[in-house]
Amino acid sequence: MIFLDNAGTTKMFDECAGIYKYYACEKFYNPSAMSRESSLLHQLLDDTRKFFLKKLGATSGTVIFTGGATESNNLAIRGSVRNGNFEYLFSSGEHPSVYNVAKSLQNEGKAVNFIKLTSVGTVNIDDLRLKLNANVRLISIMLVSNETGAINDIKKITLLRDELCPKALLHVDAVQGFMKIPFSLQGVDLLTFSAHKFHGPKGVGGLYVKNSTILKNIVYGGGQEFGLRSGTENVAGIMAMRKACELIDVRENFEKVSHLKEVFNQNLNCEGIQILNFGGSPYIESLVFNGVKGETMLHALEERGVIVGLGSACSSKKAGNRILQEIGIPNTDIVSSVRVSFNAYMSEKEIFDASQIIVEVYNDIKRRVN
Ligand code: PLP
Repeated sequence: MIFLDNAGTTKMFDECAGIYKYYACEKFYNPSAMSRESSLLHQLLDDTRKFFLKKLGATSGTVIFTGGATESNNLAIRGSVRNGNFEYLFSSGEHPSVYNVAKSLQNEGKAVNFIKLTSVGTVNIDDLRLKLNANVRLISIMLVSNETGAINDIKKITLLRDELCPKALLHVDAVQGFMKIPFSLQGVDLLTFSAHKFHGPKGVGGLYVKNSTILKNIVYGGGQEFGLRSGTENVAGIMAMRKACELIDVRENFEKVSHLKEVFNQNLNCEGIQILNFGGSPYIESLVFNGVKGETMLHALEERGVIVGLGSACSSKKAGNRILQEIGIPNTDIVSSVRVSFNAYMSEKEIFDASQIIVEVYNDIKRRVN
């Protein structure tokens, strides 16, 4: 099987599974309990927090361990909401774990605004400039789009925030960028990451918080994670997530994936197959199959051992694709599209084989339809 849906999830490294088992079965103690073993785990979690801060290039702040990016995003946004005459800004390209929180705030009567996207899927900086004002409490903009791979210029956004509303917090959903592309944390107040997108386990992630006093808890309980995320920490998952980071060289992987994508695209030379290239992350792109539904391609490809995605896994069961529509991709192309996403541990042969199978499957379906 050739897995080309790595933006949906990634295969966990074997080493992470080993670490996971060790902490789940041997060091299974509750890090908040009073035993010596427990307090050693507590220290280990704090050391791991420091590890992630270093990985992020943070000079201050902390990391709250969560049950994945959906939870981190909810905590970042809902935890920043305050009573008063505040506005909340979101890019319209956000993943449902941000977008639907924004919609829920809007339904509760909060002043929520969405920033338009450019035709290459990035945040429209002119529109952002227009919507930024002194009342804005929070701006939430993703680093890399899970739909298009478009990369937002976070640096530029922080500078604009500093100029127009320095009190606004900036939250970045970095799920498709952390451990994949180099970026700077400077000026970012809150940042989300998720282990299963970089070969760690599912159901574990983190939220970088520049200053923990800016956030309020959204769940109530025993007060773990500085009171911001009650619930016994998933020690095994957190340690396995750390292991995944230790095994990844971001720059080396970036080069490898850029090369793999080039090989893939060069060998996908076929009339009727269009590559939607937004010039962003090498990890993600979309393909449009003229005259054939994306869903048809997805199932036919799976029969031949190639797994691709249909937009974001969370939204793929719903009609249409809000983000591709927003950036002006015609509906006929959207229904004929699939998302392909790579990882750095694939071989060139796998990539070549996948491209050939895609061409064969497409030509085969076209022949049968005509
Ligand atoms: N944000 C982005 C950009 C994503 O791509 C995803 C997963 O597809 C999520 C958030 C949600 O991540 P999790 O599965 O860890 O909740």
